[in-house]
Amino acid sequence: MSRPQSRTRRKAAFMKEAERMYEQLEDWYDQNPEASFGEIEAEARKRRRELMGKTLEHLVNGRDSGVQVEAPRCAGCDGEMEFEGYCEWGIHGLEGDSPLERAYYVCPNCKGQTLFPPGCETEITRRPLE
Ligand SMILES: [Zn+2]
Repeated sequence: MSRPQSRTRRKAAFMKEAERMYEQLEDWYDQNPEASFGEIEAEARKRRRELMGKTLEHLVNGRDSGVQVEAPRCAGCDGEMEFEGYCEWGIHGLEGDSPLERAYYVCPNCKGQTLFPPGCETEITRRPLE
C-alpha cells in the first residue's frame, strides 16, 4: 500500500513495478523459448492487469489518502476529531484491481461519531499513521 509521496517517488514506484513485470516476462520466455508470439502475448496480458492495478494504486493512493494536516471538525460537537486509522477497499477496475485506502477520523467526545470516507464503511483496518 502506498502512502502519499512525491510525484518522483510515485513514478519510481511505478517504474519498479514495470521493471519487475518485464523481468518476469524475460524469465518466462527463457523457460518457454519455443513460445509463439500469441503465447507470449497471452502471458503479457495476464501480467498487464496486475501491473495496471499497481499503477493506479500508486497514482491514486500515492497522491492523497485523505489524511489531513488539520484534524476535521466533528459534525456533532464541533470538536477536533482524531485520526483513527485507514480503511481499505478494493477497486475492481476495467484494467486491473487496486487496493485503495482512506484515512478515517473519530470524535473523542461523541461516542461513535466517525468520519468515514465514502465507500469505507466496511473492512476497516486500524493502523497507526506513518
Ligand atoms: Zn463530537
